[in-house]
Amino acid sequence: MPTDSVSIDPLAPDPLTQARATLERIWGHSDFRGLQAEVIAEVLAGRDALAVLPTGGGKSVCYQIPALLRPGLGLVVSPLIALMTDQVEALRQQGVAAARLDSSLSMDDRSAIWRQAAAGDLDLLYVSPEGLAQPHLIDRLANLPLSLIAIDEAHCVSQWGHDFRPDYRALGRLRDLFPGVPRIAVTATADARTREDILASLRLEGARVFVDSFARPNLQLSAERKVNGSRARTDARVTELVLERRGRSGVVYCGSRDGCERVADTLVAAGVNAIAYHAGFDARARDRRLERFLAEDGAVMVATIAFGMGVDKPDVRFVIHADPPASIEAYWQEIGRAGRDGEPADGITLYGPSDIAWSLKRLDSRPMVEEVKAVQVRKARQLFAMLDGATCRPQAVRRYFGEASADVCGVCDLCMDPPTLSDTTVAAQKALAAVQRLGERFGRTRVIDHLLGKTKDVRADEAALSTWAIGRDISPDGWREIIDHLLFEGLLVEDANEGKPLLQLGEAEAVRAVYRGQRTIHTRRAPRVFDASSRSGNPRQRSRDGRNVALDAMDADARAVFEALRAWRRERAAE
Ligand code: ADP
Ligand code: MG
Ligand code: ZN
Repeated sequence: MPTDSVSIDPLAPDPLTQARATLERIWGHSDFRGLQAEVIAEVLAGRDALAVLPTGGGKSVCYQIPALLRPGLGLVVSPLIALMTDQVEALRQQGVAAARLDSSLSMDDRSAIWRQAAAGDLDLLYVSPEGLAQPHLIDRLANLPLSLIAIDEAHCVSQWGHDFRPDYRALGRLRDLFPGVPRIAVTATADARTREDILASLRLEGARVFVDSFARPNLQLSAERKVNGSRARTDARVTELVLERRGRSGVVYCGSRDGCERVADTLVAAGVNAIAYHAGFDARARDRRLERFLAEDGAVMVATIAFGMGVDKPDVRFVIHADPPASIEAYWQEIGRAGRDGEPADGITLYGPSDIAWSLKRLDSRPMVEEVKAVQVRKARQLFAMLDGATCRPQAVRRYFGEASADVCGVCDLCMDPPTLSDTTVAAQKALAAVQRLGERFGRTRVIDHLLGKTKDVRADEAALSTWAIGRDISPDGWREIIDHLLFEGLLVEDANEGKPLLQLGEAEAVRAVYRGQRTIHTRRAPRVFDASSRSGNPRQRSRDGRNVALDAMDADARAVFEALRAWRRERAAE
């Protein structure tokens, strides 16, 4: 029920009917969807709320409609100027009195906005969190009746989230600066811990939390292992995937600016209308690129994560991760940019063991409190375990967000083509023991040779190690498969700081659980490994790791040479 701070005419239709009429009149949508109606009712009643609704779910109207219906000015905090500009332009075209305050405005423009607000003629005012840090702005606002305060992209407040903005931290003060003004925070992705942090940081004590289902039934998801260390093959695979979807609009995410330009060039050479986008371009160049993406048919944006937040292009038909995202939250947010119109779309993620090393290294180089870093590392690991796991992908993601009852989707790669799992716990124990026995000083090829008992340069004591030759029951490819899986599970770590990556043990507790048989390991017998350039029809000879294939071939060559030399010596001796 409305509190006395809401002046709703008792003879007028109930607030939700008014809200629905507003949705229809201004936005042209016939009814609310998902939890919109409930969220709006809560805010109309003057109470605080946190709404976690899917990307494209329509979070904006959750604060825009209450701002229109409640008396006073609605204040919206938004993280990016581009986001503010888009929303304000759209609102103005729909006849809503909206404005934004940002550093690019002249003094005259600012005065005009404040005059409009003072006259009660402004419904929505968008500001950046930095803008709100200015005392004169707070003074101005304090003299105006506010209908509500909305905090868009609220996950930015949390260091546990995937897009932390330090300026968001200060927004908790709004509670004391504007007591009694309802505050609503909205975001698309926040796991339980991030939600807690949002509530605490924004001081939304007692706010109702609305979490819509994370189901996106129109998305078909899949993930494929990369050929480790082979950029050319990854680029070729990305090109192939895009060409299969030729003429459709999509996004290809890359982990670096260089990668982004390289992949865009490759796609352009293949005849695709690809556009590179990253923070290395200046704001004008980025705007032009974004406009092209929005306007041109079949345009493919090849971008770093600098692209995407708040981009409202409904007919993006695919999102391809040429490099994996940072966490499951980031994954969901990024693939969520496909199929916002509800029509079928797909999300394909390419990932490899070297990506884990890269993710962890990047986290390590960032200035962060240890505790936060540890959480981010765990999140990166959870992502890789999910990508390399056998659980229906949307189901795994929805469980990660706390939806216990999530069903399998029926259309992801794992639902369509369920992998055969084999219990490889004993093999995993052997591999972990070997890495440990060898003092964590060798790369994977050497560890595998040790397991197979074919280390040629056996140091005096190596053959005496208990793990030497204990793995002869498994092929080299089988071992590579198991070691990769242990990397994805975080039980092994590949240290990328060295020129040649060394295998080391992962988290001690987890490794011990495997040693003791408390944790079982299942590997997919037929992993999806693409091998675009391989001409070999024999899967036994295929490997994820071009380098290892080369080394194996070298071993074979070396053996042939030794055999030939030995035969020659025997002949000489016999003469
Ligand atoms: P997000 O939750 O990602 O911020 P937006 O607020 O940008 O989503 O809304 C995405 C699109 O969905 C917009 O074009 C918006 O007009 C549309 N939309 C919002 N609510 C509804 C609704 N109830 N019915 C149909 N379309 C809606
Ligand atoms: Mg939004
Ligand atoms: Zn599925």
